[in-house]
Amino acid sequence: MTAAIQISFDGRTGVYLFSAICFVLALKALSSPRNARYGNLVGVAGMVVAIVVTFLVQDPGHDWVIGAGMGLGALVAVPAARRVPMTGMPQMVAIFNGVGGGAAAVISLTDYVQGLSAGVPAQKGVEVLFALVVGCLSFSGSMLAFAKLQELMTGRPVMYPGQQVVNALLGLAVVGLGIVVVVSPHLAPMLALAAVALALGAGVVLPVGGADTPVLISLLNSFTGLAVAADGFVLGNMVLVVAGTLVGASGGLLTKMMSDAMGRSLPNIILGGFGAAPAAGPDAVAGTEGRSVRSGEATDIGTLLAYSRKVMIVPGYGLAVAQAQHVAVELARALESKGVEVAYAIHPVAGRMPGHMNVLLAEADAPYEDLIEMEQANDQFSSTDVALVVGANDVVNPAARDNPGSPIYGMPILNVDGAANVVFLKRSMRPGFSGIDNALLYDPKTVLLFGDAKDSLTKLLAAVKAS
Ligand code: NDP
Repeated sequence: MTAAIQISFDGRTGVYLFSAICFVLALKALSSPRNARYGNLVGVAGMVVAIVVTFLVQDPGHDWVIGAGMGLGALVAVPAARRVPMTGMPQMVAIFNGVGGGAAAVISLTDYVQGLSAGVPAQKGVEVLFALVVGCLSFSGSMLAFAKLQELMTGRPVMYPGQQVVNALLGLAVVGLGIVVVVSPHLAPMLALAAVALALGAGVVLPVGGADTPVLISLLNSFTGLAVAADGFVLGNMVLVVAGTLVGASGGLLTKMMSDAMGRSLPNIILGGFGAAPAAGPDAVAGTEGRSVRSGEATDIGTLLAYSRKVMIVPGYGLAVAQAQHVAVELARALESKGVEVAYAIHPVAGRMPGHMNVLLAEADAPYEDLIEMEQANDQFSSTDVALVVGANDVVNPAARDNPGSPIYGMPILNVDGAANVVFLKRSMRPGFSGIDNALLYDPKTVLLFGDAKDSLTKLLAAVKAS
């Protein structure tokens, strides 16, 4: 806290305060799809103001180095961000987050090295230490998570005997070296600390796999925020403290919400759950082998939809892959013009990132009021004639509700099996992200329309219009 008090309130601090207010307003606006664009712009404005002021007040001799760094970063990041498909967002967040953590670590290390000759006071040592350790953890952890999600290595948990002991020893080494660098400031133990923290970050992420990886990325994102906040104390820079704390807090909340939505407790993921990621194969649920499924024709399903009173569209990852959001909304409009009540049931972890379905459907101009959250949707399935499941699987798998032996048991789901009819649009009998077979596909009330979701929805649209 003392470091914060040391920040004198001058013109620069006033402008930084303006930036901080922009960040808070941006976060508030980002929490609703209606205001998300505006929120993004407000956040960008706050960031631009903070950068410009930093350029104005710092030693002009450094301008070209900072400018070159920013130019290089923009050269890589802008095309990468423009090109990345929505389904590749988690790994993009991972790599950007890793770079942020690495930068926070390097800044704290540089400050420490510069202060060594004059001696580093204990308080400053603790601030530097925190930024370095958390930044290094975040860097190596995020890079490994990126490699897993980008399939540069196996996405499954990588485990070896004594792994938790090795991680615990690395943790102890971090604590030991941390005490050394604060009590007796020297470069060698600081570098050793950075190396051990890097190893620990990788060690923690290695045994995490499957659906836990993006949750971990959210946690690492929160860590990077905290490392940046610590750098703010190191440098006496208020906007870094505020922005870092906002990222730390919001990342922490997002981690909690994601783990809740997957039915996994946060302590279980942070402490004991790393090695126990659900990664079972398609045969993990017994009893579906040899059972037949009912596949249907688009014309029949179109007629069923057109003569329904109420249809609930349940979007999932396949909708994103097929980029079928526009035709899904068109189908909804065609049904509504025939007097059918249509809504979209949104599971919080449908797709591959939080809010994935909201973003896609907002892009296709689906009315916000028609996007219904899970709890509310579950109250409505019993009065629904057709649940139209478009490229979703895990988020509607009844095993998560009914089968205590299932690796996804406990994950809250959309109870689409409560609807009178269930229609699945998917390409094959392949399972979803968790690799778990879905018994609902074999249920007598279920009919499957095989094919790419966009093609299938286009055929359904034609059939609805023709009925
Ligand atoms: P799933 O991954 O469970 O299922 C997706 C389904 O879409 C598959 O059955 C696949 O079947 C089908 N599909 C894929 N491509 C197409 C296509 N082009 N056309 C039609 N169908 C297609 O998705 P859900 O959204 O149901 O569940 C999300 C999963 O991701 C959960 O397990 C969740 O825990 C996990 N997750 C979510 C995160 C988030 O924040 N949203 C983060 C991390 C993980 P087929 O191949 O036969 O077509």
